[in-house]
Order: sequence, then C-alpha cells, then structure tokens
Amino acid sequence: MDYLAGLNSIQRQAVEQTEGPVMIVAGAGSGKTRVITYRVAHLIQKKIDPFNILVLTFTNKAAKEMRNRITTVIGSEAKNIWMGTFHSVFAKILRVEANKIGYPNNFTIYDTDDSKNLIKTILKEMSLDDKLYHHNYVYGRISMAKNNLISVAEYQQNEQIQADDFTSGRGFLGKIYETYANRCFKAGAMDFDDLLFKTNVLLKEHIDVLNKYQQKFKYLMVDEYQDTNFSQYLIVKKLAAVRENLCVVGDDAQSIYAFRGANIQNILNFQKDYPDVKVYKLEQNYRSTQNIVNIANSIIANNKNQLEKNVFSENETGDKIKVTRSFSDNEEGKQVAESIAQERADKNLNWVDFAILYRTNAQSRSMEEALRKLGVPYKIYGGQSFYQRKEIKDLIAYFRLTFNPADEEAFKRVINYPARGIGKTTLDKIILAADKENMTLFDIICDAPNYLENRAALAVAGFATAVQSFAVVAKNSTAYDTALHIAQQSGLLKDLYDDKSVEGVGRYENIQELLNGIKEFSEREDIEDRGLDVFMQDIALLTNDDKDKAENVDTVSLMTIHSSKGLEYPQIYVVGLEENLFPSQMALNSRADLEEERRLFYVAVTRAEKKLHLSYATSRFKFGTLINCEPSRFLDEIDPRFLEIEIPKKSMLSTGNFDDERSQWKSKTSDSKQTQGDFFSKPKPATKPPTTTSILAKAHVPSEGFAPSDTSKLQVGHEVEHERFGYGKVLTLEGNKPDIKATIFFKEIGQKQLLLKFAKLRIV
Ligand code: ATP
Ligand code: MG
Repeated sequence: MDYLAGLNSIQRQAVEQTEGPVMIVAGAGSGKTRVITYRVAHLIQKKIDPFNILVLTFTNKAAKEMRNRITTVIGSEAKNIWMGTFHSVFAKILRVEANKIGYPNNFTIYDTDDSKNLIKTILKEMSLDDKLYHHNYVYGRISMAKNNLISVAEYQQNEQIQADDFTSGRGFLGKIYETYANRCFKAGAMDFDDLLFKTNVLLKEHIDVLNKYQQKFKYLMVDEYQDTNFSQYLIVKKLAAVRENLCVVGDDAQSIYAFRGANIQNILNFQKDYPDVKVYKLEQNYRSTQNIVNIANSIIANNKNQLEKNVFSENETGDKIKVTRSFSDNEEGKQVAESIAQERADKNLNWVDFAILYRTNAQSRSMEEALRKLGVPYKIYGGQSFYQRKEIKDLIAYFRLTFNPADEEAFKRVINYPARGIGKTTLDKIILAADKENMTLFDIICDAPNYLENRAALAVAGFATAVQSFAVVAKNSTAYDTALHIAQQSGLLKDLYDDKSVEGVGRYENIQELLNGIKEFSEREDIEDRGLDVFMQDIALLTNDDKDKAENVDTVSLMTIHSSKGLEYPQIYVVGLEENLFPSQMALNSRADLEEERRLFYVAVTRAEKKLHLSYATSRFKFGTLINCEPSRFLDEIDPRFLEIEIPKKSMLSTGNFDDERSQWKSKTSDSKQTQGDFFSKPKPATKPPTTTSILAKAHVPSEGFAPSDTSKLQVGHEVEHERFGYGKVLTLEGNKPDIKATIFFKEIGQKQLLLKFAKLRIV
C-alpha cells in the first residue's frame, strides 16, 4: 500500500525530508498536522525505532488523535512513540531525573489553585495589600518570569524589571517570587511552569542528562509551533542541537497565546536558528469550502503583522456565511439551538457534526440552557475539570500527602478536613515553627509535643499517624485498595455520606467515580506499574477533555475558541460577536492585542468544513446587569459578498432601534427566570433515603451489587425517576457495559451524569 498517496506533492516532499531542519508555515486546514502524522509513519517505515521519535503537540486530545491515526498506518508500534504536550512529556522526564536538581522523583505537581493559594498565604504573611498584589496578577508575573526563564536571582537583579515593579508600586514582587519558589521547593512541588522551567535547568546544568536525551530523541516534531514560549523553544532547540532533525509546523496567523508568553518570533526566527532549514509552504486548504476560506482570508488581511500567504480551496463553493442577530443572549442561544436542530434534520447530519465556539467560558450558560430545552445532547470541553472539584481535590490531597508528606498545599487542604479540631491558630503555629526550624509542616506535626500544647498536639499527631499508615498501606496494596483505604480512614467518605443535600450526594458519587477510575487503572494490563502514585502522575496533567472516555458519543461540542485549535467540524457556530466581548475589552488598548483577537477570530472560522454561522446579541447580562452591545468590528471587516445577509451599517444595528424586540425580550426573560426558578428550586426530600450500609457498600464493591432495577433497556429520550433527584429525561448514554454513563436532565436540579450501575433509577 502506498501510504503516502494521501498527500499532495509538497506535503509528500515535507514528509520525505526526514533529515535536517524542516519548517512548514501554512494557513489553517492545509494539512500541517497531517504532514506530521505521515512523517512519523514514514520514519517508522524507514525502521526508525519509535522510542527515538518525539512529537510535541499542544493538547492531549491532539496527541491522542495523532497516535490513533498513526496506529492505523503502522500498527501497535505507535504506542512507543514519545508523543504528548510539552508539559506531559517533560513531567515524565522529570519523574526520572528530578533528583538531579534537588527534587524528589515523586514531586507533586501544583495546579493553578495550589499555586494561587500559596501566593495568598505568602501575601498574608508579608502583610501585603491583596488588591495591589492581587493573587492572579502575582501568579501571572511569576508565570511570565518562568516562561521567559527568568530565575529569582535574575528577577531581583534585573534593573528594568525592578524599575517597572517599583513604578507600579509593587516593589515586593521579587521577594514574593523568591518565597514562592522556596516554598514550592521545600514542599517537593513543581507548578505547571516549573515543568518547563526546571527541565531547562536540568538540561543546562546536567550535560550528561542533556546528552542522554539528545541521543534518545533522534527525530523531533512540533505542531502549533507558533504558540511555543521561550522556555519551550529552548528545550526543543537543545534537544535537537546534535542532529537537527527537527520539523516544526505552524501558522503565524493562528498565534493566540501571547498572553501566556508565546512568542510568534520563534517561528519567524527559525530560519536564523537553522540556516539550512528546508521551508515548505502549503497553500491548498483541504478542510473548508471556498466561501469559508475566502472570509478567513478577508479577516486576516486586516492584520498588519503577518507572513504573506495565499490560501485557497478547491472544495465546493459552499453555503454563504450566515450572520444572525438576536436581542439577548438567551435568544441567541435559542436561535443557535434551533438552527442546529434544523440543519441536522435538513442535511441528515449528526450532533457531533456541530460545534459552538465562544470567546469566554461564561457564554456557555445561555447556549446550554437553550440546548437543554430543545433536548439537544451536548458536551462542554475545557470546562471545570472533574479533577478540579472540591471533593476530588480533597481526596487527592490525601493521596498526595501519602506519597509526599512535604506537600504544603495538600497538607493545608486536609489537616482539618474532615474536621478534627485543628483550628487556624494551631495551623499558624505549625507554619511558624516550620519556618523557624526550616522543616516541613509535616515534620512539625510528627514532633507535635515540642511545638504545640496538649490538645492540639494530640489532634495533629493522630493526623500524622494516619498519613504515615497510608504510606505503609500504599507499599503493600493495589492502587484501588490504597485509595479506598484512604477514603475511608481519612473520614472523608463518611463526611460526604453524612451530607444529605443533593450536592452532597453528587459529591459522594463523584468520589465513587474517582474510585472506579482507580479500580480500572489498577486492573490495566498494558502497564507494569499500577501503583496509586503512578495514577496520580497521570491525572495531574489531565483536563476535562482527556478524562472523558466517551469519545464516540453523538453530542454537539461547546468550547472556547482557544481550545478549538487544530480541530475541525462540518458546521461551526461562532457566537457573541460583539464589541467588548469579541474583541475582548482587554484587547482594545493596543494594536498587538487587537491583532491577537483577530487571529483568534481567524482560528474560529477556519474550524468549519462546510458551513459557518456567526451571531451576536444586542444586549446581554454581564455581572448581573443588562448591557447593550454593539456588533463586533470583525463583522464589519468581512467581505459582504460571502455573507448570507448583508450586515446593516453599524448605525442601524445600534441597540436603540429595537424597542419592539426589547419589550418582547423583557417578557421572555421574565419567563425564563420563572423557568430557572423551577429548575433550581430546592429539591424534594428523598423519597426513600438509602441506608448507611448500602451507601458505604457502594464504595467497597463498586462493580457489583448495584445493578439498577430495570435500566438495561434505558434509551435516550426515556423519562426516568431517580430515588433522590426526582423526574428527568435521558439526554445521552455513553460508554460500554457495565460502565454506561447516562446524562440525565432532572426537572428539579438540572443536568447530571450518573453511572448506571450505581444509579437508583426507574424508567417511568
Ligand atoms: P490547522 O492549522 O487548523 O491546525 P492543519 O494545517 O494542521 O490545520 P490538518 O488538520 O492537517 O490541517 O488538515 C485539514 C484537513 O484536511 C484534515 O481533515 C486533513 O485530513 C485534510 N487534508 C490535508 N491534506 C490533505 C490531502 N492532501 N488530501 C486530502 N485531505 C487532506
Ligand atoms: Mg493542525
């Protein structure tokens, strides 16, 4: 089989040019990612060992998709390729090498919340004004410093930075950065930016390690290269320095992460770094109709800073781009939902063929509400991750402490949860003592009588003993047995069980779901090391999108434009095209920011294969008040020849002319409030509360004994009754027996996902 037949001649050249530096700069949908995929397949056909190939992608989802595609060409060898996001690949390497830079190999990964909590603690300790030194701002500064490889010492010595901080009245930032870095180090923790920063330190200070990975990764490829920051850039440069078998692909017009330190110059300077680079330009877009490609070109033409590109499509001309105006955000949601249902019926499509893209996560609410009302199944990508939920983080904090007792954020999270009478004063004393003695918080409580008075000493000693005993259990038990032991002995399971509110029950079920996941993990046959510590490493870098196992489910996708990068859908709805929303208010101050917003718009429209819909509302709620909105300037910039309705001139669109619509809207919003009231009103008390033993037993034997009464025949659309949540309708069923998950819309409490084998459901 000629596996390269699916490429045009330039793509094919780029694939076959396996040696030396290669750069592909090309517009959206021109097959850049496809070239990387085929290149890897080609290398393996040429007998390159998959272990010697490193592919860096921007999202886990992209990596997974690529691996699947390669598997179809070359078979199971594909699983040995090093492929993943920068963070996941280098976290894996740091697990092996961390001790060389003074970290334990079982270091904890602090997520954004942990980092911000630590910053808050430090601000308090330093008695700094938390408005001036807002934790988000401080976090952003530290993150930016790390992504530009500015160490604490450099930060404090750099005159420009110092001058800037003093001018803005924030002269203590250098000190905060120092304390933050020291505290992370002491806690054996790395934050997300450290995963790259410390990799750089490792590769710089340990030539032997650098050599090892230079030898290992004989071929490197980077997708979405336009969005790499300096830290990532340097890692790639170092690893590729010996052989220079480095292939990067990207599109300057899609650079959308400058706010996180990405530097478009990396792509522009590639030629300077590698004078021998072979550059390939791909100009044909295979993804979209001509109309879509044309409007994309007309949008990006408004940016001054861009590389000349001539992108064309030989696909059909396609439908014109539809622009829809609504008088409120709720109405916009309704129009989108109805349009999706209509298009699906007319064109015989599936729900998965549609995606709704928005600028900010908050916009999903009105979309969701409308989709729910119409009974359209949907899935939100990039929302709050399962692992970000409080109860999950609490239990995971116990796991973290079990393997790394130095972990300060985990310690603070659970030292008094569930409540064991350890108050703030005691905690402050522990922190103070730890600081003074230069010991960890955990060290202090192991020696409690020396630092605390009797009652408090007793309470914390109990906690210390428990955590130590967890570590012993972990050594001798499977991941699942350990996790269950910890959930029970920490008192967390009981605490959640005792909370009989609907939310409490939901939290309890989430813990069960986590335990289930761990059980599955501990039974996996494809990996050797199945301890709880390994499970923890896997999940630290997961996002919502990755956790979802149900990939082949027929749902409409909702996501921010940022997370839609690299993806494609037959029909795309870009919503909320309004001034101050898209472009974002924050982007209106400089040309550079505005151009980045425009690139974001370019990314959004180029996700569409067959049909693109744009919409805006003339009023929407923001922070609880109704505000008038003006249509986005981006709409004005589109060549009207490609639009289905001509956009009226701005003056006509101004909201003042819509009195009729407004009064209609008013009556509707009061309606919708009413309905909201219905949805979220207090649920009825459970008709028959489960017994203690039945609830606890679920945790003991999650895979047995809880088959629902008669849900084997359950189908989408069925009306059901849940023991606690009342009546609802099944929206989707995902997964395989016995792990089928149902998404059910309950009249009383809204949407919920339940594992059928546990759910107390009855078809009505
Ligand atoms: P983006 O900039 O959005 O990441 P891209 O340049 O990576 O886009 P791909 O996702 O690789 O583009 O390709 C876009 C679509 O076009 C995919 O569905 C891909 O399979 C298809 N495609 C690319 N090249 C060809 C080709 N030579 N023949 C047929 N289909 C192609
Ligand atoms: Mg791509």
